[in-house]
Amino acid sequence: MIDGSILIGQGTRKSEASFRAHNPATGAVVGPEFSIASAADVADACAIAAEAAGPFGSLPPAVRADFLEAVAAAIVDIGDVLIETAMAETGLPRARLEGERGRTTGQLQLFATVVRQGDWIDATLDSALPDRVPPRPALRRMNRPLGPVAVFGASNFPLAFSVAGGDTASAFAAGCPVVVKGHSAHPGTGELVARAIQKAVADCGLPEGVFSYLPGKSHELGASLVSDSRIKAVGFTGSRSGGLHLVDIARKRKEPIPVYAEMSSVNPVIILPGALADRGIELAGAFSSSLTLGAGQFCTNPGTIVAVDSPALDSFVREAAKALAVVEPATMLSAGIASAYAEGVAALDRNPDVERASDARGAGHNAGAPALFETTAETYARDTSIGEEIFGSAAVVVRCRDLTEAGAVIAGMEGQLTATIHMDDSDMAAAQALVPLLADKVGRLLVNGWPTGVEVTHAMVHGGPFPATSDNRSTSVGSLAMARFLRPVCFQNLPEEMLPPALQRDNPWRLSRRIDGERQAAV
Ligand code: NAP
Repeated sequence: MIDGSILIGQGTRKSEASFRAHNPATGAVVGPEFSIASAADVADACAIAAEAAGPFGSLPPAVRADFLEAVAAAIVDIGDVLIETAMAETGLPRARLEGERGRTTGQLQLFATVVRQGDWIDATLDSALPDRVPPRPALRRMNRPLGPVAVFGASNFPLAFSVAGGDTASAFAAGCPVVVKGHSAHPGTGELVARAIQKAVADCGLPEGVFSYLPGKSHELGASLVSDSRIKAVGFTGSRSGGLHLVDIARKRKEPIPVYAEMSSVNPVIILPGALADRGIELAGAFSSSLTLGAGQFCTNPGTIVAVDSPALDSFVREAAKALAVVEPATMLSAGIASAYAEGVAALDRNPDVERASDARGAGHNAGAPALFETTAETYARDTSIGEEIFGSAAVVVRCRDLTEAGAVIAGMEGQLTATIHMDDSDMAAAQALVPLLADKVGRLLVNGWPTGVEVTHAMVHGGPFPATSDNRSTSVGSLAMARFLRPVCFQNLPEEMLPPALQRDNPWRLSRRIDGERQAAV
């Protein structure tokens, strides 16, 4: 059922103020009037989240893992109405959304497995050394949850990075209650998922403050949520300006808190000369597919190609432009995103130092036609606006005189989520030289692949230096994401009866622990 409610714990309420959702393909209104959560709603959600933090954070791992699985099952139980609502609100096709639902439930299940294994607690015991001079006390360390987390759903993943997406799943896994600020572009989808989480909280007998959902279309709502003293961390995916505003609010609080904002990235692809000469045409087709996947609305979209000027690069650009010419302009997620894309493309069209390589084409209502541009390395270095993300299927080819200049282009780039090297055996020396340079810039470095498509696994890093994210020590995808919401605490000289179960001598949670420097298997 979608009725536009605000969900505070197990309760529902409505506001007088409301907003509507629109189908980006048609402009038609979708669903009921949606409430806009107020400052009082924020305060109520945060108050019960703070009450729930202790009990939820200290649950045995198996209980929290069961909860994560219950959320996944409740999302599946919503049925096809979830897919249909998301299709109407986002313009994304059925197959993409069904895949995304699988990714959403899959990541909840992955976190359930990780939580059960218990390694994330990193239980570490250093025994007392009473005979040492001076004597050493018993020291025991474990990771504990930070407390309530504010999550801002992303527009471009209405399921996998929204209400029950990666930020929420990893915060729950870490033992943190979550208060979601719903994205205003898919409020019906958001409410369906929020109600599924609400049900899972009740079914698992957890404190109601474990989850609340605040719909709304107002910067004030997000600002008051991040300002609330009971919120202890923030997860965000969206615009650079929005992310930075929230970072600023969090930094100026009486108690500053971490904001894990994933913002903008152009994901450079470096095509080395051997690969370009051997399979430039093939690469052009694959590049076009990656660039236009999902109307280019992926944070890992390959927005910059760096290569050495040559006839092979001319062919690559020509073939890529040809491939892009037959890709139909696709509906974008919202009117705002479509107009931001059109403005970004128009700015490059107006730039006298940038050439258009693909045909300029008209696009339908809220749709964006793919666009390819080219410029020189010199111009790219001088005019930093060319290197800014255009969210959608637009890319710039940077022509370099030689590999040294290509290296300088990379060295001058901002932080990125990903970088990709295309290479042949003949490119090995050049590629090896690029690895340390690129590893300093990115969260994920690929060879002979395309950056779109982010696996949800243990080794994945979806992060990177600013402005890819506001905190480059973490990832927002994969099991390591829960580390963002944990902090280590050391207990010195505490009697057994005062220690949390994870650190008690007889190991009641059967964890794998490090004892006096030796890793001991779970027993
Ligand atoms: P957005 O405008 O940044 O909004 C994301 C969320 O943050 C929304 O819930 C929004 O709430 C809130 N918000 C934004 N600015 C805020 C502020 N100053 N204070 C408080 N809350 C704020 O992102 P979007 O709507 O998804 O898309 C807009 C642009 O973001 C795109 O054109 C694209 O450039 C970029 N984007 C990037 C990625 C990526 O992965 N790199 C993904 C999606 C979007 P309200 O709107 O309700 O205020």
